[in-house]
Amino acid sequence: MVSSINSQQLYKLQGGIKLPHHKNDSLQNGLSHLPIADKVYISLRINRGNIAKALVKVGDKVLKGQIIAKPDTTNGSYIHASTSGEITAIMQRATASPEADISTVIEITTDGKEQWVLLNKKPINQAYIDSVSAKDIIDSIHNAGLVGLGGAGFPTHLKYTSNDTKINTLIVNGAECEPYITCDEQLMLSYPEDLISGILLMMKASAASQAIFALEDQVGNIKSAIEKHIKQRKINNIIVTKVPTIYPAGGEKQLIKVLTGREVPSGGLPLNLGIIVQNVGTIKALSDFISEGRPLVERIVTVAGDCIGMAQNFITAIGTPMSHLLQHAQFHKDKTHRLIIGGPMMGYSMPDCSTGIDKTTNCILALSKNITQHYGDALPCIRCGECVNVCPAGLLPQQLHWYIKGENLEKAREHHLFDCIECGACAWVCPSQIKLVDYYRYAKSELKYLDYKREKSDQAQIRHEQREARLERLKAERAAKRKRTRRRTTNTDKIQKDLSATMERIQKAKAARQDTKLETKNDSK
Ligand code: SF4
Ligand code: SF4
Repeated sequence: MVSSINSQQLYKLQGGIKLPHHKNDSLQNGLSHLPIADKVYISLRINRGNIAKALVKVGDKVLKGQIIAKPDTTNGSYIHASTSGEITAIMQRATASPEADISTVIEITTDGKEQWVLLNKKPINQAYIDSVSAKDIIDSIHNAGLVGLGGAGFPTHLKYTSNDTKINTLIVNGAECEPYITCDEQLMLSYPEDLISGILLMMKASAASQAIFALEDQVGNIKSAIEKHIKQRKINNIIVTKVPTIYPAGGEKQLIKVLTGREVPSGGLPLNLGIIVQNVGTIKALSDFISEGRPLVERIVTVAGDCIGMAQNFITAIGTPMSHLLQHAQFHKDKTHRLIIGGPMMGYSMPDCSTGIDKTTNCILALSKNITQHYGDALPCIRCGECVNVCPAGLLPQQLHWYIKGENLEKAREHHLFDCIECGACAWVCPSQIKLVDYYRYAKSELKYLDYKREKSDQAQIRHEQREARLERLKAERAAKRKRTRRRTTNTDKIQKDLSATMERIQKAKAARQDTKLETKNDSK
């Protein structure tokens, strides 16, 4: 249980680093709607794992906002068409993910009309918030296809349905701590009122009694703009607070620590502490779905870096090719050394720019060699311990690296590899320029694959044992049946025999009676 909110008290973040911001360029050029591309490529991969099932086929006409894929399990989210047009391919294609993983992608060739499905709109006023049920809001979260827009794309409705702990606090994450990325700051500047509506809905869905809206202390006048709307709506259980701009203070677990002093247990979730953390983009998307009927088919993307002539934020349809965004931001291809999805710390390089953005793509960075020179050839670890000092998760990065390099992945797991948030602070300070996060990502995906295989083989073993047991049971049942039949046959024979003997006796008795009658007749004559 989190105690009542206190605007004054903040707790120290473990580790962390100060980074240059590089945020002004994109902020000063504002927010604009990106014109729709000729084709969009919508990945069916959800939450970097499950694949949604396509509900359309090549040649189908679709409207913007129409559901085109649904998850196979409840552990996923719906996928909607981000433009109107025709399905022109369903194919295997590189997606916006580390390693540019190949996955199923739906190609829509736009008709340029941007024609929406019928939208069900409701004004989000106090009367609506009072009358709507938590279940209806959670259903809306699911139907809107909401996922965490600030992180790994975890389906949002699961935070509200898979929890036995009572939720006490909603933390609104507006602390965007990576350099260059300004999509959340831009969103908070542009839509403070929608955000308040979204927060009230999320609070109702979770039954949280309070919300803490966290911003970085370097943002301008966003705090006062949001507080103005809170005051206008006479709300007294949402507080806006600024956290120090130290990377990665905006990480979910780190933010909880800074705001409440509490630590999410190793392998646990914020839910275990009665807390839900929600990115501002996700909250705004819920507000859009309820007030406008619009599912999650677009998001704000920052395009920045020293190879971009006009850094800015674009409202972008999901599936838009990166090249289309770059074209509209004066991209200097020749100078570019690295093209990154995400920020310079947690982002990943993309080999080419035809990939479509997904719901979690917050930024596209085009960086020259001058900026990326930090990533030189790796040298051996000198055991300086710098990485340990900055790790916000309290891990031993060099030790993890050592185990993974020696393919001792289970040892890395024992040393809490899965608590690593891949913030890259360790790699940033490493004098040997070891790409530590690459090792952690590799080890995590290998371990997940091994677990998957183990689970599959366990399941196969269980299935085999169940089959053997079933066959044994059938065998025993058949034997019992045979025995019963044999016993019945024996009984029938005996009855038949007894019956024959009885019949014989009757016949004999009858014959004897006949003889007696004849003798009597003859005597009387
Ligand atoms: S910072 Fe780099 S060189 Fe230093 S201990 Fe960590 S991994 Fe080794
Ligand atoms: S990437 Fe992982 S190991 Fe490195 S500092 Fe961040 S949390 Fe710690």
